[in-house]
Order: sequence, then structure tokens, then C-alpha cells
Amino acid sequence: MNTLNKEIAGWGRYPVQRCELVRPERHADLLSEAPSLLARGQGRSYGDAALNENRRVVLTERVNRFLAFDRDQGVIRAEAGVTLAELLTLTVPRGWFPLVTPGTKHVSLGGCVAADVHGKNHHHDGAFSRSVRELELITADGRRLCCSARENGEAFRATVGGMGLTGIIGEVELQLQPIESVYIRARHQGAANLEQVFALLQDTDNDARYSVAWLDLMSRGAGLGRGVVMNGDHAARDELSGGRRLTPLRLAPAKVRNIPFDMPGWLLNGLSIRAFNAQYFRREGGRSGSFLVDYDTFFYPLDTLDNWNRLYGKRGFVQYQCVVPTATALEAMQQLLQRLADSVHPAFLGVLKRMGAAGEGYLSFPMEGYTLAMDLPMKGVATLALLDAFDAIVLQHGGRVYLAKDARLAADSFRAMYPQLEAWRRVRRELDPQGVFGSSLSRRLGMGEEE
Ligand SMILES: Cc1cc2nc3c(=O)[nH]c(=O)nc-3n(C[C@H](O)[C@H](O)[C@H](O)COP(=O)(O)OP(=O)(O)OC[C@H]3O[C@@H](n4cnc5c(N)ncnc54)[C@H](O)[C@@H]3O)c2cc1C
Repeated sequence: MNTLNKEIAGWGRYPVQRCELVRPERHADLLSEAPSLLARGQGRSYGDAALNENRRVVLTERVNRFLAFDRDQGVIRAEAGVTLAELLTLTVPRGWFPLVTPGTKHVSLGGCVAADVHGKNHHHDGAFSRSVRELELITADGRRLCCSARENGEAFRATVGGMGLTGIIGEVELQLQPIESVYIRARHQGAANLEQVFALLQDTDNDARYSVAWLDLMSRGAGLGRGVVMNGDHAARDELSGGRRLTPLRLAPAKVRNIPFDMPGWLLNGLSIRAFNAQYFRREGGRSGSFLVDYDTFFYPLDTLDNWNRLYGKRGFVQYQCVVPTATALEAMQQLLQRLADSVHPAFLGVLKRMGAAGEGYLSFPMEGYTLAMDLPMKGVATLALLDAFDAIVLQHGGRVYLAKDARLAADSFRAMYPQLEAWRRVRRELDPQGVFGSSLSRRLGMGEEE
């Protein structure tokens, strides 16, 4: 197979590393002979999870065939390179939607399993692995292992959330959820500060399936952590009128614009973001009552701007995402936002979500509590020092950082954040005794002891 030596990066474009790329056309060629291997889907993880510096990276994008679709039961089986965008195109017109979706549809099924991704409904439906009926894991010795919560359960628990380090996921079988329309009944509520945001997110009267808060990270003082809480549920057909009711499962294609080249780093600055946030807060927080939006607008607003990561310029950006247990989550988030405010480091996008109970994956990120994600332009040591300070707060509250977003966590912090690491290592040792599967992330964090 042809190999290509090329500099690549994750979605945050930090770090950039040279890897040896192969792009197999067939499922049978996914596993190639190399001392170190890593599968890569759509490269939508932010940091170095899908990088394997100076070593081999297997691009799965062409191994993307649909294998079976039971339209009555909503069960679909596909090769792991299939993206959620491709899946939606096939299943939505037939009335089926993924049980869990992240904030972009340009992710592969393999990437969703390996990071055990979560959506706006984690408090309701758990993480992606909850909808995985079965997966096929190609191990270092060429075996094809069928895994599920019941069959080869240990391999399953190590692979969901295992960041590609147990083998290559070849196929995924998913249980979808039925929908009657492509619309979401959404409701927005403005909240003047973080306490109010928390009160709205944990309101027991709010049993919305999907729930998330946008935070204005530029707001300070009494308005620290102000935001807009956005709730949503799938709309039934009889909630629609006119043309929508006639073709409830038809979605008009979204207009997608493109950022064609790297923007100068100064374009996104404190002033421009402050103005944008203030306007967004007024407009979205001031909406009254519920309204209908299509699922693209509700779940994937950022997908309407292709290559939006170029807005951050050549140096790229990092997304810091942590989760903290419920008991002290408000206090922890307040400390994080205050630390950010004190640092005068710019941070643009802020998202807060409630999470339900942890799932089965040994290294899966979710735990019962609250998760905060913040996008920060990469400004070298100032950024790295700030993120180290965030880690100290998160650790103090018994929380953890999300590996799919990470580019810089220290190995000892990682060990303290993931208490099931030893259980994961034991299974990984059985599946991959030579440590063939590795990544820049796994070496940085010392995930396998042999690294
Ligand atoms: C705009 C945006 C919004 C996002 N929103 C969310 C969100 O709401 N919730 C959330 O949880 N995440 C979110 N993410 C992160 C994203 O969902 C995950 O990083 C996901 O893993 C990306 O899938 P990918 O195909 O791009 O995987 P990659 O980035 O290519 O790889 C991610 C990991 O999966 C492994 N992997 C990929 N394919 C395979 C395979 N076939 N076999 C074995 N391992 C494999 C890789 O080795 C790597 O460790 C978001 C990302 C973006 C850019």
C-alpha cells in the first residue's frame, strides 16, 4: 500500500505532526504491517488523539460502506469510516435518527465509538456506546473480534472510549431512535449568571431530551457565566403545518459557506467576540416560547461554516473540556470562569451541559455532573499555563478532562482523572501485548505502561 509522509493535525490545528499516512480502499486492508499503528476517521478530535508522530496512521475514510439496514427496527450496520452525515442521509428519510450525536456530523462511526462521544441528551440517553449493539474489532494479530456489552464485554468496555488503542474498529452496528419529523421543538431561556444557568439546567420541570447552555465567556463580574439555556425535543408530525406536515422527513440542504484560507490570528479578538456575544445573548436569550428548527440547525450549527477552525489563524486553538461531579460542579465552574477572567486570556465559545451516569467504557469521559467546554486561541506558554491551572481545579473537584479534545494534559493528571486506567490497561495488554496500537496522545499520557 502507498504511504504518504505528511504533516497533519487535529481539528484545533495544534499540534501539527508528521505522520505516515495510508488510505486503504477495502476493509480487508485496514490492518497493515507496521511497528506502530493508529486508525483515524475524520480528524475531528481537537488535539493529538488521531496523530501518531513519525509513525503510521490508517485513514478509514474510504472504508465506508453500509452493510445492512433494518428499516422496521432501526438497526444499521456499517463500516467504521461511514460518517454521521452519510448515515443521516440514509436513515432520516426513513424516520430514524442516531440516539446520540456530537456537535458535528462530520465524524466517523469509528471515531464516535473510540471517543464514546456524548450529545446534548447525555443526561437522558447516555453516551454513544449505549446505542452500539455490536462492533467488530480488528486486533493486532489480525483477529476480528465481535464485541458488545454481552459478548467479549471486556474488549467492548476497553474499546468504547479507548481512543483507538485496542485495535481498529472495522464495523459498527447501531440502534437508532424513531423520529416523525426532521424538526426539533426548541426553547431558549436567557440566564443572567452561572447560578441561573445551573438552576435552569437542573430544573426538574425541564424534562427536555436535549439540553445545553451557551455561555458568554467574555462576561465578567455579576454577569460571570451568563448564558442561554437551549432545550429541545423531536417534534411529532402533528406539530407541523403546511408543507412541513406533508413531507415531515424531508430536510432542505443547508447552505454551507467556506473559510478558504487561514484567517489572521487577530481577527478573532476580545472586542469582536464581546460584541458578537452581547448581541447573541440578547437575541437568543430573549426569544419567548418554543419554536421549530430543523435538526441541522439545532445539532450542527457550526457545520454551516466549512473549515471554521481556520478562523483561529495558523497557531490554531485548543478546546478545554472537563466534567465535574454534581456535588461541587457550580463551585468548580465558577472557579474555572473566574480563573479565565483573571488571566485576561481570550476564550470564545463556551458550552455547559448536564451529564447523566457514567457508562461502561473504562476510559469513557462522561460522569454524572456538569461538563464545560471552552475554545481558546493557542498563545503558547500563556495558554498552556492557564490550562494547567484549570486542571488543578478540575482535579480538586474530582473531575476529568476529555481526551478527544486534549492536546496538553500531563500524564500524572491523566492518571488521577481516570481511576479505571488499570482495568483498561489489563484488557489492552491481552488484546495488544506488543503495544502495536499507539498515538501521540497515548505516549504523551503514558497510557500503556510500555510506552
Ligand atoms: C465542531 C465539533 C463539535 C464536537 N462536539 C462534540 C460533542 O458534542 N460531544 C463529543 O463527545 N465530541 C464532540 N466533538 C469531538 C468528536 O466528536 C470526537 O473527537 C470524535 O472522535 C471525532 O470523530 P472522527 O471520526 O473525526 O475521529 P478522529 O478525530 O479521526 O479520531 C478520534 C479517535 O478515534 C480513533 N478512531 C477513529 N476511527 C477509528 C477506528 N475505525 N478504529 C479505532 N479507532 C478509531 C482515533 O484513533 C482517535 O483516537 C466535536 C468535534 C467538533 C470538531
